[in-house]
Amino acid sequence: MAKSVEKCSFCGREKREVRILVAGLNAHICESCIQQAQTILQEEELALEKQKGIPEFNLLKPVEIKKHLDQFVIGQDEAKKVIAVAVYNHYKRITHSKDIAADDVEIEKSNIVVVGETGTGKTLLARTIAKMLNVPFCIADATALTEAGYVGEDVESILSRLLQVADYNLAAAERGIIFIDEIDKIARKGDNPSITRDVSGEGVQQALLKMLEGSIVNVPPQGGRKHPEQKMIQVNTQNILFITGGAFDGIDKKIASRLQTNKIGYKTDKKQQNIDKENILQYITPVDLKAFGLIPELVGRLPIVTFMHTLDRKTLRRILTEPRNSLIKQYTKLFELDNINVTFDNEALDFIVEKSIEFKLGARGLRSILEGVMTDSMFELPSKNTIKSLRVTAAFVDEKFRKTSMAHLKVA
Ligand code: ADP
Repeated sequence: MAKSVEKCSFCGREKREVRILVAGLNAHICESCIQQAQTILQEEELALEKQKGIPEFNLLKPVEIKKHLDQFVIGQDEAKKVIAVAVYNHYKRITHSKDIAADDVEIEKSNIVVVGETGTGKTLLARTIAKMLNVPFCIADATALTEAGYVGEDVESILSRLLQVADYNLAAAERGIIFIDEIDKIARKGDNPSITRDVSGEGVQQALLKMLEGSIVNVPPQGGRKHPEQKMIQVNTQNILFITGGAFDGIDKKIASRLQTNKIGYKTDKKQQNIDKENILQYITPVDLKAFGLIPELVGRLPIVTFMHTLDRKTLRRILTEPRNSLIKQYTKLFELDNINVTFDNEALDFIVEKSIEFKLGARGLRSILEGVMTDSMFELPSKNTIKSLRVTAAFVDEKFRKTSMAHLKVA
């Protein structure tokens, strides 16, 4: 009797027609049927998630939002206030969408741009707000984005990430917050759009437009490149809040020159005298973002503009101890778990701040310095049952810091 030909029990294709044929007890399955089954599973999971509904979110009033932020982010009062209002209005717009529609008033989205040096708390602010609201949050880096068809990430990939964070609960993702960092790096180079055209940056700005404005975007569920057979998820970005951030190096000069040009005439001359030249960022307006190289359409979709102060000595010192999960509280807790009572002298903390400023490490530097300073103790003390307390003095910090690789950094 002729041996029966092995074939896929689902589509009937023979072994020679397929790449892989997996054998079961009384059946076989080929790779394309496995893929199809996988897609069905994904669709079922999505349908289930949809039925789950949206988790409640926790919307406070602007003053309370600011108070909440104060517990985690030190200083930056102007930004906190502006963002608290924007977030409140944005989510009020969602919760009252029916009343608003009935009144025929369309309240536009309040996407935000935060301008400020790296390490001043932009991401921390956005993350803290999302956590407070209990909405999905993800971070994207504008420099990794490219126009569709180029090597790099499509802008849709940002939405894939938000969906993943939301555990594929589409309704929850559609009210999430996306933080796009380094938005300044996709600026058009040069002031004059007609002379200098930087196609790549401008292309990404164009690609971001629709998503920021609010539209239905086809998103590949697992991220990565779209391919024709993949089932897409349609994400409506209407209620997603976009917070964008960037250092916008050199924008202070653009602001200063704009303020200068306003100087003509007696009245404005007086105004000029009141300009606080040390904190020029506080005068930032959408016009400056355009001058920096963001295309006008994008600036139009980012109506809320605010800024972060450069962290001074006093703020850095407060960052060490004041936030709810401050670094000092974290280290104290870590030692406490080993029944070791660690205390930090004020001079020791001042010393850490000085080093962070000296080596231009900012707020991120505080953590690296502390880690370097505490490593020996964290290594040795848990095994020394006799030592129950540790007092960190300035001399202790000095000695330990000298041994770290940071101490050998060259100050630029
Ligand atoms: P950015 O997004 O502006 O580059 P981050 O928000 O990532 O900066 O800040 C880096 C780290 O520095 C944060 O995780 C936080 O620990 C600390 N930090 C920065 N600014 C502040 C601040 N104003 N208050 C409290 N911590 C801060």
